[in-house]
Amino acid sequence: MSTTSLVNLLPAAARLAPETPEDVAFAFAEARRMNRKLVVFSTGHGIPPIGDTTDRILLDMSAFDGVEVDPVTRVARIGGAARWSELIAAANEHGLTAPFGSAASVGVTGYMMGGGIGFMSRHLGLGCSAIRAAELVVPDGRILRVDAHSDPDLFWALRGGGGGFGVITSLEVELTPVPRMAGGVLGWGFEDAERVLRAWSDWTAQVPDDVTSAVRLMHPPEGPSLAVVVVTAPRDAEELNALLAPLTDLQPVLNTVRDTDPEAFVSEYTDPEIDPEAPPHAFEHVLLDRLPGDACQLVAEFARPAGGCGAMMVEIRHLGGALSRPATGGGATQLIDGEYCFFVVGFTEAAEGMAHAVDVLSDYGRGRTYFNFMPRRTGRRTAYRQEAIHRLADLYEALDPEGLLDHPHPIFRTATVADEAAEGPALATLPG
Ligand SMILES: Cc1cc2nc3c(=O)[nH]c(=O)nc-3n(C[C@H](O)[C@H](O)[C@H](O)COP(=O)(O)OP(=O)(O)OC[C@H]3O[C@@H](n4cnc5c(N)ncnc54)[C@H](O)[C@@H]3O)c2cc1C
Repeated sequence: MSTTSLVNLLPAAARLAPETPEDVAFAFAEARRMNRKLVVFSTGHGIPPIGDTTDRILLDMSAFDGVEVDPVTRVARIGGAARWSELIAAANEHGLTAPFGSAASVGVTGYMMGGGIGFMSRHLGLGCSAIRAAELVVPDGRILRVDAHSDPDLFWALRGGGGGFGVITSLEVELTPVPRMAGGVLGWGFEDAERVLRAWSDWTAQVPDDVTSAVRLMHPPEGPSLAVVVVTAPRDAEELNALLAPLTDLQPVLNTVRDTDPEAFVSEYTDPEIDPEAPPHAFEHVLLDRLPGDACQLVAEFARPAGGCGAMMVEIRHLGGALSRPATGGGATQLIDGEYCFFVVGFTEAAEGMAHAVDVLSDYGRGRTYFNFMPRRTGRRTAYRQEAIHRLADLYEALDPEGLLDHPHPIFRTATVADEAAEGPALATLPG
């Protein structure tokens, strides 16, 4: 059963399925009348399990799923619930793409509201930096079209401010030509994890800015544990394979690096679809500034199938490149302040072990976090600068003074990191 069909089982009073911006305005009026909060549901990838609905109305956005690409202006107009698979496929027909993430089924809008770090980010930059305009319905019922000129403040917030300023019915997204692309995975048995991590870390210090990669140490439910490097570049396979020599010298048992395109790559390497009937998962992350040999050793130990931190997958993404340069036109998230992202995901029983792993690895950074991977308990303090927190809080107060929109990461102007930790549950869970 898909996540969307589970939503359809909710009692009618707890769910509205708008088809037009006017319907969304009506939903805000209903929420106000019923004294309930609205929860925006585009794909369900970012919200905790729906649970008790007595004080909330779920706004099922699935009707807003269109994608239109204008190959001349290189702009896509997409519905607020369109998924990456739909945008990537439509843009790909014209040799274009947008800064996509690692999961085809994630919603483009939800992803971009929180920044957006993906498979080609060192080349394409943050997802939110590609937003050119948005049509949204704000809690007082107004339907707005916002771009850099019409409302610079709200436009800034929509570019990576974490969402919650209104309900987005459509986005205009800038597309980038991708005349060439190579990518794939290199794979080893898990026993090579530390050796691979050390070599990969050294390699990331000297790769060109357009090469994006991540190491994943994985324990699939079926099959052996693996160490893999996922890699892409806007180059041909021969060039990318030459750059990969320090890693292929370690004799991977699997090498699928070849000429490809964004649609083929994402459909092959996308993160698995969320199974709403599987036990819930927990996740944690932290940004790192460096990954020396002793950190690689710790990561490999935490990732061990027995005696490690209990995660199903430990991932380190290489950041930097276009992610480290302020985006043209700015945005609440306009760069990522770290060289690597350490991310762990596992069943909720592993939560304590994973939190410990993150605490230990934090010594290799400044405790910075990234909105889209944030469990509730870390709040926003570690993901945004102080000035941005104040600016976002001002906007929330101006646009949604009654707090009609429910949000997985509410903002508290005066809260400390510790206060925010006390506000949320121990760990965020993936719907499931
Ligand atoms: C398997 C998986 C892989 C992921 N991979 C990546 C990745 O590679 N990089 C990355 O940066 N993030 C990644 N994420 C995180 C993901 O980008 C966020 O969870 C995002 O919020 C999901 O958006 P959604 O619309 O799919 O989900 P939903 O649960 O439908 O929405 C989540 C939130 O997004 C906002 N939102 C969604 N649609 C709208 C709208 N139309 N109007 C206003 N607000 C809206 C709302 O605040 C909503 O609560 C991943 C998540 C999962 C589960």
